[in-house]
Amino acid sequence: MSVLTKPRQTLLLNVDRNRILHGILKKTFYEQFCAGENGTESKATIRQLKDMGFRGVIMTYAKETVFDHRTKTQHGLGVAALESKKKGESLDPHIAQCVNVEALTGAGPTVTEAFTAGELPPQQMMDALDDICNKCRDRHVRILVDAESQHFQWGIQRLTLELMRKYNRDGYALIYNTYQAYLKSTPTILAKHLAESQKDGFTLGLKLVRGAYIASDERCLIHDTKEATDDAYNGIAQGALKQRIGDFGDSTAFPSVNLFLATHNKQSVMAAHQLQKHRLAAGLPTVPVRFAQLHGMSDEVSFSLLQLKDHDGSPEVYKCSTWGGMGECLAYLLRRAIENRDAVSRTGDEYRALKSEVVRRVKALFAFSAST
Ligand SMILES: Cc1cc2nc3c(=O)[nH]c(=O)nc-3n(C[C@H](O)[C@H](O)[C@H](O)COP(=O)(O)OP(=O)(O)OC[C@H]3O[C@@H](n4cnc5c(N)ncnc54)[C@H](O)[C@@H]3O)c2cc1C
Repeated sequence: MSVLTKPRQTLLLNVDRNRILHGILKKTFYEQFCAGENGTESKATIRQLKDMGFRGVIMTYAKETVFDHRTKTQHGLGVAALESKKKGESLDPHIAQCVNVEALTGAGPTVTEAFTAGELPPQQMMDALDDICNKCRDRHVRILVDAESQHFQWGIQRLTLELMRKYNRDGYALIYNTYQAYLKSTPTILAKHLAESQKDGFTLGLKLVRGAYIASDERCLIHDTKEATDDAYNGIAQGALKQRIGDFGDSTAFPSVNLFLATHNKQSVMAAHQLQKHRLAAGLPTVPVRFAQLHGMSDEVSFSLLQLKDHDGSPEVYKCSTWGGMGECLAYLLRRAIENRDAVSRTGDEYRALKSEVVRRVKALFAFSAST
């Protein structure tokens, strides 16, 4: 996978032009983790996921630019587009097309340059984003802005804060900013955003992840151990659900927050769900919470959540899928492959769940043939 993601491949290793390679990847990695190469395939995947009981599907367009702190280089298809296209583009047409399906993320090369400088993107892009936000508001589609490598993150956060200030009103978050719990700086950033939300009266869309760029971001910015990241994640999730983070909810009133817990960690999701259930039952204040796992990963966690019945139905669980051509999706697929190395313990749970399901079905089959 890592060899295939290198730019300027020979015909043999070009996943879009070598049909045999394309076919093998499509049936193995691609269909496990991605929604489709076009609108028709993606819509069929969304339908399938919704039929399984998921409240919705978070759609992400695959084209991306990752900054590697160690080599100080950018890589990914956003860079290739920058080299061939030059400046002036507003919004990738694939992204605009995505609005007609579900929620979206992603940006073109001119925009990544602005993010690198910690600036807002050009006005053309801001206008396109306003258009998207209005369309999404009309269609009740939420927008989750992903957190990327630290290199781009200041600009992304500045933009997301502006959009939240404008569109997140009356207790409803149309826009969510993503907070990476593995960063030592996240509590400070979150406190700043809570203060902004309190001051300007908008709802903070708080999508919480642990963080995916440990291999390429500056290591000293990230917690030293997995346990410290876990504590940070659970601390923010539970703090939001208890409406108590730092001074907020104590000496300062807690602002309006909508929470999205994006994680495969069963302990984190179950603890958050239990806490919210307890607070609702006890008539204590809390915030709305939704859960999301990536398509193709941790189905055992997603389905365990879906099976939990509360007084007002099951928790809201979403699957997050990526769409785009095979070449566009390669960097995403490579990250999933690397991340699954971290997931041995989760795979153990899933393996046991699958094994008992196979045994149950085989037994049911024998019981059926014995009775006929
Ligand atoms: C729906 C969804 C959306 C996502 N969106 C984003 C996004 O916008 N931006 C983004 O960056 N990521 C995103 N992710 C990925 C996420 O950040 C994690 O990489 C991934 O989910 C694995 O973490 P976990 O919470 O599922 O579980 P776990 O497997 O319990 O945790 C693994 C994570 O712990 C952290 N970790 C591992 N080892 C160490 C260590 N030695 N020291 C410190 N920390 C360590 C890393 O963050 C690692 O990814 C998303 C994930 C989901 C499910």
